[in-house]
Amino acid sequence: MEPQRSPLLEVKGNIELKRPLVKAPSRLPLPGSRFKRGPDQMEDALEPEKKRTRGLGTASKFATSYPRAPALTTVPQAQGQTAAPKVPKKIAPRCSTAVAPVLKNQKPGPAVPAKKPGTAAPPKPGGKKPSKRPAWDLKGQLCDLNTELKCCRERTQTLDQENQQLRDQLREAQQQATALGAERRTLEGELARVRAQAEQGQQELGNLSARVLELEEWLGTQEGLVQGLQKEQLELQEERRGLVIRLEEQERRLQASEAALSDSQAEVASLRQEAAAQAALLAERGERLHGLEMERRRLHNQLQELKGNIRVFCRVRPVLPGEPSPAPGFLLFPPGPGGPSDPPTHLSLFRSDERRGTLSGMPAAPTRHDFSFDRVFPPGSRQDEVFEEIAMLVQSALDGYPVCIFAYGQTGSGKTFTMEGGPGGDPQVEGLIPRALRHLFSVAGELSSQGWTYSFVASYVEIYNETVRDLLATGTRKGQGGECEIRRAGPGSEELIVTNARYVPVSCEKEVEALLHLARQNRAVARTAQNERSSRSHSVFQLQISGEHTGQGLQCGAPLNLVDLAGSERLDPGLALGREERERLRETQAINSSLSTLGLVIMALSNKESHVPYRNSKLTYLLQNSLGGSAKMLMFVNISPLEENVSESLNSLRFASKVNQCVIGTAQANRK
Ligand code: ADP
Ligand code: MG
Repeated sequence: MEPQRSPLLEVKGNIELKRPLVKAPSRLPLPGSRFKRGPDQMEDALEPEKKRTRGLGTASKFATSYPRAPALTTVPQAQGQTAAPKVPKKIAPRCSTAVAPVLKNQKPGPAVPAKKPGTAAPPKPGGKKPSKRPAWDLKGQLCDLNTELKCCRERTQTLDQENQQLRDQLREAQQQATALGAERRTLEGELARVRAQAEQGQQELGNLSARVLELEEWLGTQEGLVQGLQKEQLELQEERRGLVIRLEEQERRLQASEAALSDSQAEVASLRQEAAAQAALLAERGERLHGLEMERRRLHNQLQELKGNIRVFCRVRPVLPGEPSPAPGFLLFPPGPGGPSDPPTHLSLFRSDERRGTLSGMPAAPTRHDFSFDRVFPPGSRQDEVFEEIAMLVQSALDGYPVCIFAYGQTGSGKTFTMEGGPGGDPQVEGLIPRALRHLFSVAGELSSQGWTYSFVASYVEIYNETVRDLLATGTRKGQGGECEIRRAGPGSEELIVTNARYVPVSCEKEVEALLHLARQNRAVARTAQNERSSRSHSVFQLQISGEHTGQGLQCGAPLNLVDLAGSERLDPGLALGREERERLRETQAINSSLSTLGLVIMALSNKESHVPYRNSKLTYLLQNSLGGSAKMLMFVNISPLEENVSESLNSLRFASKVNQCVIGTAQANRK
């Protein structure tokens, strides 16, 4: 329905046609502006026009005071481009109802230039045109104008209401905008946060991608490894199968072995029982054996005592090549009471004294000298035969009795041969020292099976002119003399030692041989052309024997002394004495003195005298622990077979006979 064209507008249109086209500014309040115009203001605004109209009613004035018409038209244009094309049709009737929906859009658009009044509100052709009043009908016109004014006022009022409404809406919209702005800021903050998160996520994604790549690479490696391992697993499975087969085989064998083992264990158990029984038997036998051994020692000692604690053997050496043979019958060896099978114990020496004459002028019959000893060894006696007789004494030394074996006689009678042996190292001519030691080692070895442990320490000294010299000295001391002294081992000790002398532990023949060789070398160093010192000195080989039976808690120890005495010959006092002879005489006297001291000591022991003159010679002083008391003594009297030595032989035999008559008290074994 086409709204009725206002006559005012028509006037305006007419006037505007004659005016230059001006762009009218919009009078609509801008959003947020505080401009407000009430109905009174509108009234005031219209008032001049009203006045002018009343006064003159000129169209021109009216037209110029109507600038708001275009302003209203701008509203729909300003509220948005989308509604613009429809606006002209709705604006034309200036109806208040047409404005409301347009204003509902709160956002004011940009100012749009006002359309030409002519074009903006063209008179609708179909509109009800008010009847044109004649110029003179001013009253009618006024009436019309009043009507129109009224209408305008109503419209103004409506518009104000709308305006108020719009303002409220605007406020509301502003509040909404503020809220939306806050929300926007929140959302922007959220967005920034989300973006940051997104960035972080992106970064993480990048990292994760890199990690994924890495892991993929690792996975590839692992897959390779897995393949390798799978291959290896297959091989191992194969090997395992082989091993299982072997294991089964081994288990079968093990079972068989276990069966065999249990059989063996049963056998071992029975063998152990048997062994225990054997051990008990063995222990019993060992005990019995020990008892028997002790019994043997006792009986052996009894036998030795029956034979005498001092025994004298006489040994006559053979005539050496180059020596004059003695007259037949010079020496006789009568058989013993048991006949020729008995070992000889008697010796008869026939001495023809040329000084003694007979009345008939015939040479006097040789004087017979009979001697009886524990044993007599004629010239043909071998070394082993001689040793056999003294082996029992060596056994006594092992049993714990001190033993002394002397070789007495003139120089060249065979003392050294008897004690050390003949030259050349021939085992047949080995002397008593190596044989005795071999025997000791052998018997000690046998006794070890009965629980005895033996040790041997050897020393070898020479006593020349009452000075003691070590025959086992080595190095710079070799051949030197006069440095050794006989001393007690300690204060209150019975044991005697030779200071500066070597005491060498020995356990085999080789070691003994080496010692004897060393002693021979030492003697050779001391020898001079004028003085065959070895024959002028006593050689004392001492062996300290120590035995222990740990099982029975027994200990025994005794020295075995093997003494090669100095030559017993005397110098003829009727000889013219030069300086050298006088020296020899003094030396000889010293020797004779020590030999006679030995005889005196033996006598004193035999006679059980309170004083035994051990201190009268170095020899008896050194040997005091092996003479008398529990000691056993054997003296070899060595005799030359030559007639020229008959005087010395007689002297020796007489000395030996005296010794042989001595009886030294019952020997006691040195048991601890
Ligand atoms: P001594 O030591 O008493 O002075 P020896 O032992 O040196 O005497 O003997 C002198 C010599 O007689 C040496 O050549 C030795 O070999 C020899 N001789 C001694 N006794 C015998 C014997 N029973 N058989 C063989 N030769 C002997
Ligand atoms: Mg000699």
